[in-house]
Amino acid sequence: MGKSLTLSQGREYLAIPGPSVIPDRVLQAMHQPAPNIYAGALLDMTATLIPDLKRVARTGHSAAIYISNGHGAWEAALANVIAPGERVLVPATGRFGHGWGEMAAGLGAEVEVIDFGKSSPMDLSRVAETLRADAGHRIKAVLATHVDTSSSVRNDIAALRAAMDEAGHPALLMADCIASLGCDRFEMDAWGVDVAVTGCQKGLMVPPGVSFVFFNERAAEKRRSMPRVSRYWDWAPRSDPDEFYQFFGGTAPTHHLLGLRAALDMIHAEGIEHVWDRHERLAQAVWAACEAWGRDGGPLRLNVADRADRSHAVTALRLEAPNGTALRNWVQENLGLTLGIGLGMAAPTDPSWHGFFRLGHMGHVNGHMILGLLGGIEAGMNGLGIAHGAGALDAAARVIAGG
Ligand SMILES: *Cc1c(COP(=O)(O)O)cnc(C)c1O
Repeated sequence: MGKSLTLSQGREYLAIPGPSVIPDRVLQAMHQPAPNIYAGALLDMTATLIPDLKRVARTGHSAAIYISNGHGAWEAALANVIAPGERVLVPATGRFGHGWGEMAAGLGAEVEVIDFGKSSPMDLSRVAETLRADAGHRIKAVLATHVDTSSSVRNDIAALRAAMDEAGHPALLMADCIASLGCDRFEMDAWGVDVAVTGCQKGLMVPPGVSFVFFNERAAEKRRSMPRVSRYWDWAPRSDPDEFYQFFGGTAPTHHLLGLRAALDMIHAEGIEHVWDRHERLAQAVWAACEAWGRDGGPLRLNVADRADRSHAVTALRLEAPNGTALRNWVQENLGLTLGIGLGMAAPTDPSWHGFFRLGHMGHVNGHMILGLLGGIEAGMNGLGIAHGAGALDAAARVIAGG
């Protein structure tokens, strides 16, 4: 029996919300023999990473590097400013807010969660109300997820700062911008963020393995008042090292640094404002196609109704179960295209889990990749006989063309 024809040979495309597509230039920069970690080029190069990272986060304050994924950056940030028994407020808009809160609980914090569900941004009046009710200022930090990668909700961090100020509450504003940095506009200093955490494997286009915590003087002050901070997570030596190894609390993540240098060169050659605009336009193309597929009785739905609340880095979608899984499998097997699973929308044992899926469009993505992604989904829906509205690809192409 002959094998049935598939069209999966060729360059594969991983369109999941992290790890993102790694540019060849980053991969090539990493393909090097081990460099000396005691003297020479690596040490000089590392010093150049810090200001360029701060330019991406739009901060003039301090930065610490960790050899970890995003979960490590969550823990690092908390370990420096939240002592056991202190309270944190988590306005959650999807799975990731809860995750950061659970991390805080594991470090002995008292965690108060306001759950805004799985498809809406924070209601800032409720956050302000909670802060005003905390007259004794027991809450030491608000843990805000800028873009929640499970729901694809994007929260207005500047407005959250304003709500905290209006409530007259001194809690630190801590922002998880792991999904958003280098994709959605993020302005640490202008928005009044005290601590920002991110990883390298999303908008920063580097294989998972290093993460970053940015912090301002208010946060540094809180760090200095801590009864103790674990030596490894302590951001003080990392952000102001006397010796090279202190940047990393040990051996440098040599090849990640080489890759990061190349990625930052690409981001700053393009210009961060342009990077944000590119992601915005590409996201609008994705939305235009998804909205068209959902018309004429098509079952496809975007998780976030209002465009203003949608991330430019990731889009969470739903079909009737099990068609989300069927579509992912179809485009994988037939086209060499990998879509993201749904996350946090249903338990994996719940049959409805198979309706949810996500598109990652963060980092090293351009117009033809997004059109390929959308064309692949259209082919998959046709191949599987999933009903959908007409004109999606035309709508996306018009957005890409700037119409
Ligand atoms: C990816 C992500 C994380 C977790 O990062 P890991 O590298 O998987 O540990 C946390 N928060 C957000 C918003 C993310 O997108």
